[in-house]
Amino acid sequence: MPHYFDYAATQPMRQSAIDAWVAASGSLNSSAQYASGRRARSVLDDAREKVASLLGCEPIEVIFTSSGTEADNIAIQGLFAAGNTNRIISTDIEHPAVRDTVSKLAQGGATVDLLPVDRNGHISDGGAFAEPADLATCMWANNETGAIQPIEDLASLAQQSGIPMHVDAVQVAGKLPINFAELGITTLAASAHKFGGPRGIGVLLAKRTPAPQPISYGGGQERGLRPGTVDVASASALAAALEESIAESAAEGERIAALRNKLRDGILSSIDNVVVNSTEPCLPSHLHVSFPGTDGDSLIMLLDSLQIEASTGSACSAGVNRMSHVLSAMGVSEEEGIGSLRFTLGRLTSEDDVDYVLAHLPEVVARARTV
Ligand code: PLP
Repeated sequence: MPHYFDYAATQPMRQSAIDAWVAASGSLNSSAQYASGRRARSVLDDAREKVASLLGCEPIEVIFTSSGTEADNIAIQGLFAAGNTNRIISTDIEHPAVRDTVSKLAQGGATVDLLPVDRNGHISDGGAFAEPADLATCMWANNETGAIQPIEDLASLAQQSGIPMHVDAVQVAGKLPINFAELGITTLAASAHKFGGPRGIGVLLAKRTPAPQPISYGGGQERGLRPGTVDVASASALAAALEESIAESAAEGERIAALRNKLRDGILSSIDNVVVNSTEPCLPSHLHVSFPGTDGDSLIMLLDSLQIEASTGSACSAGVNRMSHVLSAMGVSEEEGIGSLRFTLGRLTSEDDVDYVLAHLPEVVARARTV
């Protein structure tokens, strides 16, 4: 069995999600008007209502999508299309699902202002909210470092200025409490596979006003924002996974933080010249560390040969041996940050896994430093 430390990339499906998926797998088209369509519709309505009650919104505000990436795209492109200022506020540490979408809009002529982050990866200045914008988009917690952003403060700045706000909560959903209505934001993205649901289904919460304009067209499902026949079984599995993940989040958060701290302290006491890039407030699951004098790819390969599965940063940028844009935005130098590892822990991580890493990492780093 590999020692899996890449929970921020994805995690094994929960049994409750598999059971919900199997139970709903016979569902036909939830838009059909005959009995089997109504039965599918009722399963979908139950999933929608469960998600709404878990995330503090109305059922009509729940839009099932194919991924977190799609939810981000619908919100950002759709709110931009609905606006008239041609200006977007974002940050320099977003996941590519947001970052590349915003870049594409910038190439098309949008003005983009990026909120700066401090050395710990937390947004440090909300001054950009003083001017009107079509939308502001900001992640709740960073996928690489785990840094939790001051999302309530940013949401209230957006509200004061009347700027629609999108929050990428893909790393947060199921882990930290979310109340969409209380937060007062316009849209929010989450993804099932990050909290133990199936890969290939996400959710967008979208207020009725201001609403994003559709960015794709078809049969009008999901308020016309995500047209296409809905995957009822996956929606049902998403709801089951979210419910279980939230129910255990307080206890799991504590357990995982203790393991993560043990890993961090063990690394600091057994390896020289280590930089810890995950700083509070931070998700309990994340430990991002740099080992100057190494490079990330060598570290990953050496760990893989020992059946330790970790990442150099975001899964989507793995394979590209460049320092991550997140570390650059934090002011980390190339020399310091090129040899980085992201360990992310989750519900099946045990103390044995942590001990195993601590027993092998000093030798791995020493070997990577001699390459
Ligand atoms: N946003 C963040 C912060 C993420 O971490 C990820 C996945 O790594 C995504 C968006 C994309 O989610 P999905 O894999 O469901 O497309």
